[in-house]
This record gives sequence, C-alpha cells and structure tokens, in this order.
Amino acid sequence: MRKIALFGSTGSIGTQAIDVISDEFEVSILTAGRNIELFEKQLQDLNPEIAVLLDENKKISERFPQIEFLHGAQGLTEAAQKGDYDILLNAIVGIAGLRSTYEAVRRGKDVALANKESLVAGGSLIIAEAKKSGAEIIPVDSEHSAIYQCLDGNAINRIILTASGGPFRGMKRRELADITPQQALKHPNWDMGNKITIDSATLMNKGLEVIEARWLFDLVPEQIEVLVHPESAIHSIVEFEDKAMLAQLGIPDMRVPIAYALSKPGRWASTSASLELSDLHFEKPDKETFKCLKLAYEVLEEEQSYAVVYNAANELLVGRFLRGNIGFLDIGDNIERVLQAHKPIGNLDIDGIMELDRKVKGEVECI
Ligand code: NDP
Repeated sequence: MRKIALFGSTGSIGTQAIDVISDEFEVSILTAGRNIELFEKQLQDLNPEIAVLLDENKKISERFPQIEFLHGAQGLTEAAQKGDYDILLNAIVGIAGLRSTYEAVRRGKDVALANKESLVAGGSLIIAEAKKSGAEIIPVDSEHSAIYQCLDGNAINRIILTASGGPFRGMKRRELADITPQQALKHPNWDMGNKITIDSATLMNKGLEVIEARWLFDLVPEQIEVLVHPESAIHSIVEFEDKAMLAQLGIPDMRVPIAYALSKPGRWASTSASLELSDLHFEKPDKETFKCLKLAYEVLEEEQSYAVVYNAANELLVGRFLRGNIGFLDIGDNIERVLQAHKPIGNLDIDGIMELDRKVKGEVECI
C-alpha cells in the first residue's frame, strides 16, 4: 500500500484530503499547527507513524505512545527528511510550507502541492532540486491541476488561468476603501482557509498562481494569461502551438483536484455533484484596481528575491488586515511600496529565502 505524508492536515485542504484518501493509501505522517482538538481526532482515526505540532504537547504525546511526536518548524523539516512516505501532500499555509516541499523533493519524493507559496518563494531552487532527484511536483491548486490534466506532451503556446474575480469583482478603488474582513472573507464560489480567501479578494491569489504556473510548467510571463470567469466552471485552459485549446471543467470542489493528484493518471469515483453547463461569462481582470495581480507580472521580470518579498509582505499584511489594523487597499499598496524599495539578491538558498522572508515581515509589521 502507498504511504502518504499529509502536512497541514487540520486545514481546509488537509481535511478534504482525508475525505478523499482512498483505501490505496496509508497515512504515515500528519502535521498540524494549533488545532489540537481536530488533530487528536485525526491521530485516533489514522494512527500515523509521525505527528508534528507547532508546539510541544505532552498531554497528546502521552495519549499516543506508539506515535513519534516532533514539533515546530524543525519538526516539519525532520519529518519530511526521515519519514517513510511515497508522496507528501503539502497543505500548510504560507511560507511555513516551503521547507517541507524542499526536503521531500531533495529526497526524490513526489509532492502533491497545495502550498503555492513554496513555488512562489522558492521556485527556481525547488524545480532545480526536482530535476536532480527525479521528484514530481503534482499541482493541487485547481487551476494548475486543470492545466496538468490537459497536458498531452505537446508544447504549450499559452495558458489561461481562470479567476472568479472574488467578492469585489467590478468594484473600483473608492468602493474598496472601507471593506471589512467579514466582507472579504465571503468568497462567492469557494470555501477555503482565511489567508487564501483574502488573497482571492485582492487577486493576490491569482498573482501567486501566475508565479506558481511559471515554475510548474516552465513558461515565460507572456505565456500566462488571466481571465475572469465568475462561474468558476472552467478551471483553466491550455492552448497548444496549433492553437487548439483544451480546458478542464467541473463544479468548484477542491476534493476533485486533490484526488487527481493522488490517483493520476487514473481517476477515483467522486461523490461531487456534476456540473450543469449554462451561460458562462468571461472578462479581462482589472489589474489597476487589483494591483496585486499586476505586481506578480512585474515580479516575474526580476530576480527571485522579489517574489520572496511579494509573498512575505502579503502574508504579514493579510494578517494585519484580518486583525483590523490596516484597510483592504493597504495590502496591495504596501506590497507595491516594499517591492519598490527592495534591492535584488541573487542565488538565494533555502536559508536565504527564510531570512529575507523574516526581514520583510519585520519591516512590514511597522508600516
Ligand atoms: P488553512 O488555513 O485552512 O490550513 C492551513 C494548515 O496549515 C492547517 O493545518 C494549519 O494548522 C497549518 N499551519 C498553519 N500555520 C502553520 C505553521 N506555521 N506551521 C505548520 N503548520 C501550519 O489553509 P488552506 O487549506 O486553505 O490552504 C493551504 C494551502 O493550500 C495554501 O497555500 C493555499 O494557498 C493552498 N490552496 C488552498 C485552497 C483551498 O481551497 N483552501 C485551494 C488551492 C490552494 P492549524 O489549523 O492546526 O493551526
């Protein structure tokens, strides 16, 4: 039986992954942050060999003496380095997921990747390691999964990443100034964790996805387009050199791309509803109002260190917005400001990326 390491098991993607993991997998590692109650239940149900929590917790480790407990960022690294697994599903949110992807890839282990921040901040490094070790990175993000499912071995002319447009589609800057976290947390089509939901409202999520696609499919920025498609029925489109286009469609349900990353090239039967096709709409994204998306393209023209700054500033600013410290528009405006002030750094290794991430967050905390 194949073994899976499930990193970020208590989150939105993590819990849906547990829903779809078929009898074909044995769960060998589970990791969580601070949701102790749910993690305890998962340990009880899945009995992994290794469990990682953000903080040490004697009560839990004594309750499960057969499980090896590790903790903190170091625990995640150690579990990825020494654990027994065939595939690591990385569903941690933010830069905290970078090292797990890196360590798994260095060991030649396949990674089902939901943690897009891994490729945004560490794309060149991780792809180089994957080429060396033979590890495959299989996208879980629905847009990238769609593209991956459409690939037929022929060269790509361009890809079109679809975007729902988020809850504020069609609105202009003056209408966005007083948006509250509660309003921004209501996504029209997808039910996701808080950070990615805010990223979807600012279109930062699409910016992160543009950078993720650049690394996953080895494309130049001009080959990556974004199209607003409010119904989220078409998950993304590939155009080949003969101008034929292939698209992948379905209802917005993350269990489908999660399952595909684990079942490919086969497909498991799903209890997900069928898509009823009706009128579908498309429009160009408004990159002036939603500047996070415009900034992604600018970042792609620069050294990788700009992408680390883009990602770090966003992570910190989203947290501040959710706590009511800054306004909705301050997210994009401050990312832009920090990027303008950044001096490029070449050849960042994994420690260099983490150090730059910390430095940027320290600066943005005080803005
Ligand atoms: P959630 O916030 O729902 O879950 C995040 C997971 O990471 C939880 O298990 C959480 O633990 C854990 N975690 C948080 N901080 C840390 C940390 N510092 N160290 C270790 N573990 C940590 O996020 P999502 O599931 O929404 O997203 C996960 C990733 O997948 C993100 O990169 C997101 O962009 C991507 N993604 C998500 C989609 C979705 O539909 N949700 C769609 C496509 C991509 P705990 O809860 O116990 O604190």
